[in-house]
Amino acid sequence: KLKVAVLTSGGDSAGMNAAVRAVVKGSILQGCETWIVREGYEGLVRGNTESADTAASREAPQNANLKVYDSDFIANLRFGDGTLLRDGTADFSDGRSLHGRYIVRVGWDDVRGWFSEGGTLIGTARSTTFRTNEGRLKAAYNLIKEGIDALVVCGGDGSLTGADVFRAEWPTLVATLRSEGRISEEQAKYHGHLRIVGLVGSIDNDMSMTDMTIGAPTALHRICEAIDSIHSTALSHSRAFVLEVMGRHCGWLALLAGVSSGADFVFIPERPPQCIPWEDEMCEAIQRQRGVGKRKTIVIVAEGAHDKELNPIRADHVKDVLSERLGLDTRVTTLGHTQRGGRPCAMDRLLPTLQGLDAVDALLEATPETPSYMIGVRENKITRVPLMEAVAMTRSVAQLISEKNFEKAMELRDPEFKE
Ligand code: ATP
Repeated sequence: KLKVAVLTSGGDSAGMNAAVRAVVKGSILQGCETWIVREGYEGLVRGNTESADTAASREAPQNANLKVYDSDFIANLRFGDGTLLRDGTADFSDGRSLHGRYIVRVGWDDVRGWFSEGGTLIGTARSTTFRTNEGRLKAAYNLIKEGIDALVVCGGDGSLTGADVFRAEWPTLVATLRSEGRISEEQAKYHGHLRIVGLVGSIDNDMSMTDMTIGAPTALHRICEAIDSIHSTALSHSRAFVLEVMGRHCGWLALLAGVSSGADFVFIPERPPQCIPWEDEMCEAIQRQRGVGKRKTIVIVAEGAHDKELNPIRADHVKDVLSERLGLDTRVTTLGHTQRGGRPCAMDRLLPTLQGLDAVDALLEATPETPSYMIGVRENKITRVPLMEAVAMTRSVAQLISEKNFEKAMELRDPEFKE
């Protein structure tokens, strides 16, 4: 009977809760015990402060697969780490608060209704300690202490790299813990192999070898809603709007938002404007639109956009060009974190559910010889690929862009790409 833990790591994205829910429920359906790790890898490193409560909770109640926490579970998740619970008390003696507890047993009902919640209820973090061998040693100890032998990580390429490093190092970590006498011979034997699987949670849709990352559809939806709102005011005043959208080194959000909203010009890192200076190309395109009577102008700038020489293209500069060269009344709107937040759209409930269920299957099938898998989606089918191959390819795309080899980068991101 596997003990399966799930964590979310790196930047939050809509759909992470659905992923956690699917892993928890899928594991229970397969007869496993289920745990969540709060605050990403940081929670693994911190583990559980030993107390009568945590010791008692390890002795799971008989119906633990149904429900471990009472209905305050979500409130405790939100407030249990600091000093205050919802009622303002700091008394954690009821054994169900989460103070000092990062690796928490959960049951079926504990994740009920998580579909519609944005962000990640179990918290996420960027952990510098997990990047060190010492931190990972603590993390391994905390997992073994709870008897956990399988881990699902939902995060971006950094988080998946962390998962790979952890798994590769696992035998050494176990040997060290044994030699220091912190775990028994039986524990060392039982935990000789860590099963680990990655789910890609990222609004940027920047991971290679998968068509869609968890959170990207919702972020795109948020951007489209924002553009719709801008639309009417732009039309009324015949204004131009320059929108800066997230995506880091990936132009997916900007490009798809442009197509979905009929933008006039889109700047993405993978295909910088062909002209030098690019200002001419943009002004010409927009003038053409205005020339046939278009009353409003929408320009989308991906946050990682640059010209052919890799000089960043900034929304403020685009605004100045539109104002000064075309005489347009131009405003800049930076959507910022509104793109991350809010209710997940249907796709960000469906995709993480299917992927979370497959992640559990992949854990159950894992052997010391099989690679750690990333669960992806290709042409509407859930796929498994070795996670380090996907991470390596993602990095190669970034590398090619930094070498100004844009066409090759596009090809690597999408093998069917043709200009
Ligand atoms: P996002 O795409 O939103 O930035 P991410 O998963 O790429 O998400 P990172 O900050 O790169 O975000 O990584 C998340 C965490 O994964 C880090 O804080 C760190 O704890 C762990 N991690 C990343 N790279 C490594 C590594 N090489 N070794 C060990 N742990 C790592």
